[in-house]
Amino acid sequence: MPITANDPKRKTWLETPPDTDFPIQNIPFGVFLTRDDIITIGTRIGDYAIDLGALHQLGYFSGIELTDDIFLQDTLNDFISDGRKTWRLVRNRIADIFDNENPKLRDNNEHRKHILFTLDEVEMQLPVQVGDYTDFYSSKEHATNVGTMFRGKDNALMPNWLHIPVGYHGRSSSIIPSGINARRPWGQTLPEGATEPIFGPSKLVDFELEMAFITTDANVLGEPIPVNEAEEYIFGLVLFNDWSARDIQKWEYVPLGPFLAKNFASSISPWIVTLDALQPFKVEGPKPIMEQLPYLQYKGKKSYDINLEVYICPENGEENKISNSNFKYMYWNMAQQLAHHTINGCNVNSGDMMGSGTISGPSQDSYGSMLELTWRGEKPIKLSDGTERKFINDNDTVILKGFCKNENVRIGFGECRTKLLPAINM
Ligand code: MN
Repeated sequence: MPITANDPKRKTWLETPPDTDFPIQNIPFGVFLTRDDIITIGTRIGDYAIDLGALHQLGYFSGIELTDDIFLQDTLNDFISDGRKTWRLVRNRIADIFDNENPKLRDNNEHRKHILFTLDEVEMQLPVQVGDYTDFYSSKEHATNVGTMFRGKDNALMPNWLHIPVGYHGRSSSIIPSGINARRPWGQTLPEGATEPIFGPSKLVDFELEMAFITTDANVLGEPIPVNEAEEYIFGLVLFNDWSARDIQKWEYVPLGPFLAKNFASSISPWIVTLDALQPFKVEGPKPIMEQLPYLQYKGKKSYDINLEVYICPENGEENKISNSNFKYMYWNMAQQLAHHTINGCNVNSGDMMGSGTISGPSQDSYGSMLELTWRGEKPIKLSDGTERKFINDNDTVILKGFCKNENVRIGFGECRTKLLPAINM
């Protein structure tokens, strides 16, 4: 089925800011609370939030097989479960409804009042209930940087790294949408040179620049997903900040990996940009350095050219851009991650979330964490107000942004914005 929603020539009758992340070719999906305190599934064009529940009730999706309440829900899980064909039909229809040439809703003021909201009239919620969350470690630059810091240059990559998309099972209860604050965690750390741990607020709170993909029900228990079919089961992507307390992490991670250093908060951007919308931005990924096992070998392009940016904004200050990276740097792509995740028969459900791992590029200004940008704090970053950062300070806001751009269209993710509050008093 063609993705007519992606037609770069299409224009909308809604007024949209130039260079918006959300032109009519994007049509992401999210969940929001309206001014009338009603929760609904919606999409966004320019700076308008569009109530899909209201559109459906008013008959705009006639001819598409959808249950009556599919958009009157507080998560996208059921809609995502309907599968790729339905996502495509609905996106194509939304593009048609808001097309310049289509007068049906354009000229119906009564309907428009029920369907359109400005952004200040809505409050974005988590778009899905994340049943299971997995975080990978798939950027070679990131793994090399961290490995060099902890084990030296010669042993930077672990022997398994070039063979396995390494990952761990995370925790979904502490995933928060953009705009919700995180709190500096308390925990055990081992101070430099000490032999006994101490307990206190983490001193080394860091962000991790990641993207995460949301899956549909993909397979039954026991049956793997082949690498070349994997993208059929990926609904879309969000920006993802995998907050990390480096001092807690360093002490606790042996031998089972990340635990409390990673599960105090993980932030995501609220609009899921569909994999369909990203099709014009497919690119070749990095060439494998070593031959990969057959179940990880894929055909065609499976990487995506998505520009990523990180900003720190001190309290009452301005946004300072501290990193420029790109999703295309990932050594292991999403299809390989999903194929690997299920090769043992592990089943994946609608609304599951898979983090890419920190996305670092080749140059120093493209690293995806403070740990790397300041090289463990040895090279602090200077902000425009004259202050320095080794890691994230109390009341700093960390903002991730992401967008794709070619000569025809810009498809963006908006922001993933989180303020770090001071540790609670204990
Ligand atoms: Mn991570």
